[in-house]
Amino acid sequence: MWRICVVLLSVGLLAGCASSGRSEQVAVLGADVADLRERMNELQEQVAELTAYREVAACRLPNRAGADRLSAGFPISPERIPASGNVNVAVLFVDFQEAPALQGETDTADKQTLTHEIFVNIVSDAKRYLKVMSYGTFDVTFRPLHRWLRMPHSLSSLYADSDSSLGRGISRFMLIDDAIGLADPEFDFEDIDSVVVIAAPEADSIRRGSALLSPDWHFDPDGQTIGNAISLGSNDRRWADGLTVAHELGHNLGLPDLYDVSVSVRKDSEENLSDEVNRFVGVFGLMGARPSYARTEMFAWSRWQLGWLRDTQVACVTSFPTSVQLTSLAIPGGVKAVVVPLTETTALVVESRRILGYDSHLSKEGALVYKVDTSVPTGEGPIVVGSISKPPDDTALLGPGEAWNSDGYSVTVEDAAHEGEYVKISAID
Ligand SMILES: [Zn+2]
Repeated sequence: MWRICVVLLSVGLLAGCASSGRSEQVAVLGADVADLRERMNELQEQVAELTAYREVAACRLPNRAGADRLSAGFPISPERIPASGNVNVAVLFVDFQEAPALQGETDTADKQTLTHEIFVNIVSDAKRYLKVMSYGTFDVTFRPLHRWLRMPHSLSSLYADSDSSLGRGISRFMLIDDAIGLADPEFDFEDIDSVVVIAAPEADSIRRGSALLSPDWHFDPDGQTIGNAISLGSNDRRWADGLTVAHELGHNLGLPDLYDVSVSVRKDSEENLSDEVNRFVGVFGLMGARPSYARTEMFAWSRWQLGWLRDTQVACVTSFPTSVQLTSLAIPGGVKAVVVPLTETTALVVESRRILGYDSHLSKEGALVYKVDTSVPTGEGPIVVGSISKPPDDTALLGPGEAWNSDGYSVTVEDAAHEGEYVKISAID
């Protein structure tokens, strides 16, 4: 009896245990039934999560792209910023002797207005977007220092983009390190998780957004190590919707690039909008190329990696045929992904894309099938959407009666409603 009581005590279920007196029993029973019910519900949820954790084990593909590298696998490196709760991001504005902000103007008030404008246009939306994508669990607080920090070195000789990616990395490291150094006397970096440095619009030799990550790069202001940072260039202002910041923060969170980086490095930024660079995921996914990701829901797989989808929201299918009711990514709750493990590092994933939320631009809705390979490095196609059209567009979405065959399996949409698709997965003989 005593042992049972200890067990029950440990989960807060005291009622019925006390053998020493009826009055104690009554007192406990009357204490707070609502609290007990709440505790029971929590326990039930925990049991469901534990059961689901076991059930999805075969589908939680391990990272085989390098433990400290961006990957589509599990787990994400602890060096990346936390994906839940509140995260603090410093926002610094920098200009240059050769490219002063508001060239020709000397009015300090105008300069301040400009930093506010840029902040509202290209930073604020990222907060809302990531909050929605995480179903309310991830909250970024951007902390701007609203003045232009004048960089100590020449733009052209030190900070401008170079042709090689290593050269660009060094330039951006210098840019961010100098910006942090200039801001430090008046900015407290103590609880800062990441830093965004925005170059003045006039500095057009700093072109595209870029994320700098440990272990390759880190910054040490106020005695604390910051292993995640972002710099934005002149091209990023052309898509003033905050999603460039969200994309780069995606890297800070540990997500890989889903566009073809080799094309992007080879070609000028204008040509980055070509079909070739978008061939893996096309119009789907935040981590694809611009402007495709201008407005799009994030893949269920990426959200599962980040813990924004719970294990209970993933159906890991290993016997066939199996049918699953999917709910649209844009609606909180329900099963968001069917995962069929293929090998130790590959899986097919099915999710529901409806004309809702950030997918409101779609002209067709339906189930989306893609293949994940966690041995493929960032920017080389760790996620590839199954589609006849390249780059994949709305025609990749399967409506009622439509099917997609891949890797020995057939995915068929048996029924569809506003909330999502009912899909059947069969093994092909
Ligand atoms: Zn990227």
